[in-house]
Amino acid sequence: MKKLFLLILIVGAQITYSQSKSDKKIISNKWEALKTSSEFGVHGERINLLRQNRLNFMLAGEYLINGFENKPGSHPWQGEHIGKWLHSSILSIQNQTILNKNADWRAEKLKNNKEKIDKLVNRLLATQLENGYMGTYAEENRFMKMLENKSMSMVGSDMGFLKFGWDVWTHRYNLYGLLTYEKYYPNKKVIDACRKMGDLLIEVFGEGKADITKYGTRQGISSMTILESIVMLYERTLDKKYLDFAEHLVKVSEQNSKLRLMGNMLENGSVVNSGDGKAYQLMANLLGYLRLYRCTGKEKYLTTVVNGWKQIKDKHILVSGGPWSRHTDYNGNKECFAHKDAFHPEKIFVEGCSDATWVQLNIHLHEFTGDSKYFNEAEQTIVNEVYRHQDIDGYKFAYYTIPNENKTQHNPFYHCCGSSEPRGMEMYSNNLVGVIDGVLSINTLFPARIKLSDEFGGGNMKISGNFPYTNKTTFNLNLDFKKKFKVEFRIPTSTSLNSVLVNNKQVKYIKNNRGKYEINGSWKKGDLIDINYQFNLKAHEEIGEEGKRWVAFTYGPIALAEKLNSKNDFSLERDKFNRMIGSNLDRPEPFINLNTKNKNVLLDKLIPIEGSQSRFKIAESDIELMPYYKTASNYSGPRTYFYLGD
Ligand SMILES: [Zn+2]
Repeated sequence: MKKLFLLILIVGAQITYSQSKSDKKIISNKWEALKTSSEFGVHGERINLLRQNRLNFMLAGEYLINGFENKPGSHPWQGEHIGKWLHSSILSIQNQTILNKNADWRAEKLKNNKEKIDKLVNRLLATQLENGYMGTYAEENRFMKMLENKSMSMVGSDMGFLKFGWDVWTHRYNLYGLLTYEKYYPNKKVIDACRKMGDLLIEVFGEGKADITKYGTRQGISSMTILESIVMLYERTLDKKYLDFAEHLVKVSEQNSKLRLMGNMLENGSVVNSGDGKAYQLMANLLGYLRLYRCTGKEKYLTTVVNGWKQIKDKHILVSGGPWSRHTDYNGNKECFAHKDAFHPEKIFVEGCSDATWVQLNIHLHEFTGDSKYFNEAEQTIVNEVYRHQDIDGYKFAYYTIPNENKTQHNPFYHCCGSSEPRGMEMYSNNLVGVIDGVLSINTLFPARIKLSDEFGGGNMKISGNFPYTNKTTFNLNLDFKKKFKVEFRIPTSTSLNSVLVNNKQVKYIKNNRGKYEINGSWKKGDLIDINYQFNLKAHEEIGEEGKRWVAFTYGPIALAEKLNSKNDFSLERDKFNRMIGSNLDRPEPFINLNTKNKNVLLDKLIPIEGSQSRFKIAESDIELMPYYKTASNYSGPRTYFYLGD
């Protein structure tokens, strides 16, 4: 009775959150995550280090909050970090709670973490001004006072205006972080604060008011990332004014000929042309369009996302899963997408924020459809590019990486990428196993523990194996009671499934329309599902700057690279050949004399090194290929792309 009363109170409180309720229904995600913990194996090690070191380090100083409490802050986008930290920290707690029962110390630790988060949230809320402003700027520099770029001296530069220009951006991340917090820990105070931020933005940038695309950098594409946060606010409150505001933002954005991301994507134009092609922000805008589709059902929003996704995947993603960018005469800076003919493995960059946003876009598309092709992309980025950006100490992160370079510049500072990558890692970890249409859906071969819901017999499931360094993974079903249901699992990209065994007996399986393998069964406690698979070796050709051809290799989802050591290999005296191909790296080119377009001839040169894990020797050379991410340290980096010729 007491519980029922509480429930009524909560439901009642939630209804009073919104004023003018919308009659629109939100299209729900098809795929829903089950509580999963990955604490073992390669990914478990990375995620543990992230939690113990990076997330704690970020909180340890006062940098997350002091810009809000003592305005003005010290850096133009100092305000973004708290929202990003909240997002990853909340998911981190969610991803660990499954193991609570067995370890009191862990429960205690999580409780402590949660208390720290609560404290920080309260401090942040306390900085909100009466008008709804929750930023780090001096009064004269706030977005309400400085609406248009014309007063700014360095419009083209992201770092140019140090005192203003990123204020809307801060509100984007405040809303994102606080709404994520509130999703797991309902709290009217938080919703009220978010509403006040939303209302202030409407007051300044709403119908008949200032043009948001004139605020901030890159034709307004940075400010337009607020779209996703505003739609999140609508999803939470169902207050129609926020949905109207979101669609108004789209209208304004479409009227700016240098931005109009939707129009451009619907016409299959290039991502290079919207908002100077700023990669991170452009993908963050697509996140907004995806949510807007979910709330309106308007096809044009979904088509915008799908067309953008396909183009980015086909033209702007490296074998490492990193979205690459380069400064050219037609875009803004080195964080902007460039056309394929600008590709050069020593002159392009992968910004950490682009990794994380690409992962996020794929995770959300996967939740929405259940289609394995999206999760494949997220996984490829995580196990290659994100792992390289994260130093093996877990707390330093690289801002940029370059596919061919003899070092990786991990650093301990607060920077956008060091706050974005943890979000990508926790989102990925939050989506490893789930449910779709009554099917138990397994996305990962990494070791993990999963709490099963009653529709899957209660109890839990354990995934074991040494992925990505083995050919076998076992799902151990530890059900509370017998149950009949389908199990589907995803095999990583460039991987062949050889057999599926249930309790040591081979069984039939089908590949379903989500690209996952499906088996049907009546399951009981102790059932074992073994899957046997093999990675396939693949050659990927890129034709880039000046028609130069390059090749890179992958083994299953793992990108391969030669490890270059900056102490041994760096030579200031470039030889003539290096100058010709524009290389700084003093290494032999093993494929240059082959003069072939046949990928099999290239693949034949790769000889597996016996007794090693995912390592190959290139024939007639001293070059050894290893997993891309393993090449990274402050003194070493990968050579991922090899020169093939013109
Ligand atoms: Zn960044």
